[in-house]
Amino acid sequence: MEIAAIIVAAGRGTRAGGDVPKQWRALAGRRVADWTLAAFAGHPRVGRIVVVLHPDDMGQADTFTDVIVATGGATRHASVAAGLEALAGDPPDGVLIHDIARPLATPDLIDRVIDALDHAGGAAPALAVTDALWTGADDRVTGTRDRDGLYRAQTPQGFRYAAYLDAHRAHPGDAADDVAVARSAGLDVTIVAGDERNLKITGPDDFARAEELMGGRVDIRTGTGFDVHAFTTGDAVTLCGVTVPHERALKGHSDADVGMHALTDAIYGALAEGDIGQHFPPSDDEWKGAASEIFLRHAVDLATSKGYRVSNCDVTLICEMPKIGPHAGAMRAELARIMGLEADRVSVKATTSERLGFTGRGEGIAAQAVATLVRP
Ligand code: MG
Repeated sequence: MEIAAIIVAAGRGTRAGGDVPKQWRALAGRRVADWTLAAFAGHPRVGRIVVVLHPDDMGQADTFTDVIVATGGATRHASVAAGLEALAGDPPDGVLIHDIARPLATPDLIDRVIDALDHAGGAAPALAVTDALWTGADDRVTGTRDRDGLYRAQTPQGFRYAAYLDAHRAHPGDAADDVAVARSAGLDVTIVAGDERNLKITGPDDFARAEELMGGRVDIRTGTGFDVHAFTTGDAVTLCGVTVPHERALKGHSDADVGMHALTDAIYGALAEGDIGQHFPPSDDEWKGAASEIFLRHAVDLATSKGYRVSNCDVTLICEMPKIGPHAGAMRAELARIMGLEADRVSVKATTSERLGFTGRGEGIAAQAVATLVRP
């Protein structure tokens, strides 16, 4: 089932304090909006993502990559309509509608909603109310309410796209949420288990709570890689994507980029996903002479598909010759470009082995690398 997500970000909510809407405020080092987007962009079952922005916030559109940007309306209902219509030309099978102010939706929560769409027109996460419920006035309790059968609704709320688009187009005006719109059109909505951590940032205290929850969940992984290639006849070597003139070349099945291979293996290592040889068998003629950029990009894409981003990496080239220093800046820039990182997260340095061993005798080049991956 092809799933698209609509992230509704057109609210002006400033109850959370500050003078900009809460989705643009910082939370654990990134904007609330970036965390929310990452939760969906990193989910393997979510294809297209539509972000619905307030007309005053269209300047933020350029800060997102790989999303469709729609202009929201005066109400939530109008904003969801804009998101749905943005998909109408190429309709997905299912759509998830999510509040930008819920940055902690987990992959499991999103899976539960998508799974339920296999046998329901709509599905949404909720938590049964467990606290006693009172009515009150002027700080005094005036009565109690039965909590049986009451739920606290969350998002993402998921629907079969075509039926929900019809329901939404036919709905006269604003509604409490998308489930209310679906039900008014007679669509069945299944309740799936919500998640206490999937909080909606509303008041000032919610930023601190969200950061606390994120701290306990962030997954940081480290991987190392090591590679060696022998010299052969030739007039240049390729190291970290840069061609360096030399009186010899490196021997290998691909372009023999020993530095990029070590880095690629470091990323696979952090993911416990084997090594280059496993993903690109040397027995396969397809990779003969291949630019190693293919391997590095595959490792980074694999990390992204599992919700990780490369936080930083460090490559050490071990050789007497050629001199690496004059090319290190270009190598960093090239690796950063391939991985989609800022250059200050990528290090390339070199050492000799004091003329000892095979690198000391000039028989080849060795490289080692370390990469740190973070999943928020
Ligand atoms: Mg290699």
